[in-house]
Amino acid sequence: MLLSITSTTADATILGYLLHKHPDRVRSVDVGFGRAHVFYQEASPERCTATLMVEVDPISLSRKRNSRNTQNLEPYVNDRPYAASSMLSVAIGRLFGTAMSGTCDTHPELVDQKMDLELELPVVPVRGGEDVLRRLFEPLGYSVDCTPIALDPQFQSWGDSNYFALTLSGSHTVQRALAHLFVLLPVLDDRKHYWIGEDEIDKLMRRGGDWLPNHPESEFITRRYLRFGALTREALARLADGAEDSDQADAELDEAEAKVERPLSLNQQRLDAVTDAVVAMGGGRVVDLGCGEGRLLERLVAESSVSSVLGVDVSIAALERAERRLRLDEMSERRRERVTLAQGALTYVDDRIVGHDVATVVEVIEHIDLERLDVFARVLFGHAAPAAVIVTTPNSEYNVHFEKLGPSAMRHGDHRFEWTRSDFKQWALSVSEDYGYVPEFSSIGPDDPTTGPPTQMAVFRRGQEAV
Ligand code: SAH
Repeated sequence: MLLSITSTTADATILGYLLHKHPDRVRSVDVGFGRAHVFYQEASPERCTATLMVEVDPISLSRKRNSRNTQNLEPYVNDRPYAASSMLSVAIGRLFGTAMSGTCDTHPELVDQKMDLELELPVVPVRGGEDVLRRLFEPLGYSVDCTPIALDPQFQSWGDSNYFALTLSGSHTVQRALAHLFVLLPVLDDRKHYWIGEDEIDKLMRRGGDWLPNHPESEFITRRYLRFGALTREALARLADGAEDSDQADAELDEAEAKVERPLSLNQQRLDAVTDAVVAMGGGRVVDLGCGEGRLLERLVAESSVSSVLGVDVSIAALERAERRLRLDEMSERRRERVTLAQGALTYVDDRIVGHDVATVVEVIEHIDLERLDVFARVLFGHAAPAAVIVTTPNSEYNVHFEKLGPSAMRHGDHRFEWTRSDFKQWALSVSEDYGYVPEFSSIGPDDPTTGPPTQMAVFRRGQEAV
């Protein structure tokens, strides 16, 4: 994976000060998925080229990746070692982090100086082709020179691949040009990768804050950037290739869970129970957090006491399915006004979910890492603070009754935990105390005398005595 940065501005070697990398030296660092090196191909007063080369170690990548889907060769044979992807962004962050933050102790006056720069990337995967390349870089003032790379030069009839040789030329500060690449390389690639660092929204704001808001494609960029950022469900520094189609994998997991629970038509019973609880509370403005493909939303819009529903999910694919299920495009204007879908992660403060009467969180908390649950509670009970919250989650004690489920297995491959009744109660009581709510517990599905029901529900009311 290669990136060359060339300056042709007079005194071109000042590039070395700005990048904090001396033209006479090679600098190498470990980046988790391999090693990254910076060296200079050329350093004259007229022209100075610094090259960042990243050696990706596909074997270590494959070891770090998710345990599922490891039986094929794909983790070992893929484009990651040479195609400029989000991993190149990670390397830019590691090796040019000081330059990107606009620090240059020796020559602070250079930081804001625009230079004639050429950014050269021999292999860039681009979903959407040349059009996307131009839409992203031309508004930023680059001239874009791109050549598609043939799938196989020996078989011209196979046509071109999705990879381009790309050269961007423009007059920018070094800091700004690096930030452009840092944000836009993963947007071009548009595949799910794991990142160092958790807080993708903060990162996007830090690197894009001063140019992204004015970019005509800011929405497209943000959507693609955060798609995998917010979806990052792996632990810190689990940098790995997400070659499998994550949506496909999620759909398969959902299907497997449905199969386990199907004999009880549990899903139906859950939707009934939650809809009844919303109506019993008088309906009003309802937000469904982790709405998935919108099954509950569909039920709620049909209730006359529900004045509006907002469905929030982190998965764009799920929201697209919800849009189709609800047939938003065919709805009458009046009904349409009552339904909104929004992409969002429940572990970030979000003003869009403030001001609701009821929040529903159906089979979602078990998808959140345990160590993020406190943040989720703060966002929901502390910040959004609706009058009532309805939460459902599996009761792990009941799992022994599922024939298709192995011992100590969970119902869904993406579940981070499944709680016993007492685990759930303990959590519910503690958040209630912290945020001034009163919980009431109930069962969904057959209530077995020993194990309890398959699904447990809590209805939290803000600032009231227990019923
Ligand atoms: N409530 C729906 C879907 C449950 S599946 C139903 O009962 O049918 C869990 C859903 O939570 C998925 O759609 C997943 O994308 C979403 N999700 C998981 N973690 C999330 C998070 N941190 N923020 C927002 N949504 C999340």
